[in-house]
Amino acid sequence: MSKITKCIVCHKTENEVPIINFKFKGKKYTICSQHIPVLIHKAQDLDSVLPGIQPTEDENQ
Ligand SMILES: [Zn+2]
Repeated sequence: MSKITKCIVCHKTENEVPIINFKFKGKKYTICSQHIPVLIHKAQDLDSVLPGIQPTEDENQ
């Protein structure tokens, strides 16, 4: 019954890496711990997998 959860970026499964669930615009997504920094700092790189995501503002420059 349960589907294997995969990272939206690298497609590694929950059997290989820790996977985190999150929601965006009412949809549920899953991402591995390795790619959370991409979601935080380079959100625009995820535009193909998260349609409508806004570019992350560059806070350090
Ligand atoms: Zn990943």
